[in-house]
Amino acid sequence: MSKAFRKDQIMLAQAVHNHYRCPEEFLDFRLNEGISPDPGYFQFGPGVTCFGRSLKSALKAQVQYPLSDVLPNVLVDGKQLVLPFDPDEVIDNLRLERYNSVQLRRHEYAFKKIYYWLRPFTNRSLRSFIQKLRAANWQKRQFPHWPVDTTVESICENLLLLSLRVSGADRIPFIWFWPNGARGCVSMTHDVETVAGRDFCTQLIDIDDSYGIKASFQIVPEERYPVTPEFLGRLRDRGFEVCVQDLNHDGRLFDERKEFLRRVALINRYGQEYGAKGYRSAALYRKAEWYGDFDFSFDMSFGNVVPLDPQRGGCCTVMPYFIGDILELPVTTIQDYTLFYVLNDHTIDLWKRQIGMILAKNGLTSFIVHPDYITEDKEQAVYKDLLAMLTELRKRESLWFALPGEIDSWWRERSRMSIVKDGNSWRVIGDGAERAVLAFARMVNGQLIYEQADAPQEGDSGVSSVLREESIAAGL
Ligand SMILES: [Zn+2]
Repeated sequence: MSKAFRKDQIMLAQAVHNHYRCPEEFLDFRLNEGISPDPGYFQFGPGVTCFGRSLKSALKAQVQYPLSDVLPNVLVDGKQLVLPFDPDEVIDNLRLERYNSVQLRRHEYAFKKIYYWLRPFTNRSLRSFIQKLRAANWQKRQFPHWPVDTTVESICENLLLLSLRVSGADRIPFIWFWPNGARGCVSMTHDVETVAGRDFCTQLIDIDDSYGIKASFQIVPEERYPVTPEFLGRLRDRGFEVCVQDLNHDGRLFDERKEFLRRVALINRYGQEYGAKGYRSAALYRKAEWYGDFDFSFDMSFGNVVPLDPQRGGCCTVMPYFIGDILELPVTTIQDYTLFYVLNDHTIDLWKRQIGMILAKNGLTSFIVHPDYITEDKEQAVYKDLLAMLTELRKRESLWFALPGEIDSWWRERSRMSIVKDGNSWRVIGDGAERAVLAFARMVNGQLIYEQADAPQEGDSGVSSVLREESIAAGL
């Protein structure tokens, strides 16, 4: 066929291809020519809510269930799948939160103005009361899915299942998501908000270390507290990572383009000064369209599903993804502040539920715990419960506990690796491939399962069955 056609085919499969890093020949897609020029909501399989262009008859302007499911509209042309939507477009709409309606954005803006106007004058309990008022009915919202949304993973899985069906292949090789075949990844991060938080960091390092866990600290460079090279050095000397958090934490970074450019230049300069690879905005404010101006390797300002945060939404994935050249490491669990002061919950039950759901998709479990909010015994006990539970989990499951900077390095390496034919089987090649594990996706009873080849040269005999059961949550 023509060159243009080849180009379409590759573009259409890119997000799915990057998710699995499988040989491109297994992802043969073409876009149905009858799709509408305007976007809307639809489903791709049960419970998989999508936003983008698709068949006009299937689209709704609002998330109103039931949505039309376009899965039965996938056509087969020889060994090629004719899709009723562009997976790259829909996955981008989710990851970059382009599904948020204009109305919601206006609402956010009004709320933010009130919140930040009140903030200097109010104490924590009044602020959390305001957040609760605003959060009323949040649990009725079905999209993004609370308490973890894995829509992007589900889209990729459904497309791989369809590919298995039409290709006639009994398995599709891919590069396992984490180094050395780890089932999932766990990352702890601490945002330092105030002088009290900064002064608690030394103690927090001791607490983390006593559970064998290292973390990254996100430091606010201006106005909040003095930052000395000695302080940053102390964190690093103990094996912890330093990242930049916002500029002055006033919540206005993305309000206005010209002021943003002034601030981002300073933020980038602090990044260099601190030797930091990573960045996070105050209160998880974010604007993907402006990320090209950041001079960082990775960002951690997108939440997986954040109905209770000042900027609502969610990137609907538990995997890292690229926003231009920046790698996004999404925050996939509830923040300590929201748990303690908005939900009034002093247990680790919700965190356990989230870990179970994330691991069921072999994803990244990432936490934000502020030194500022765990200085008191009651909250500190909850945090120690979390660390103890993670330590237990680590004994039973092969999990990769990693600093954000290490995850960034791995994901970048993996994104440049590829799979080549090697006799009867396949082999992973590229820098860092010695840590990579070859895996296979297969269909068993209509379900997608993943297997790892723990000894690639032995082919089938070395395949160990892995981990798709949701029951891990029960074992927590
Ligand atoms: Zn903060």
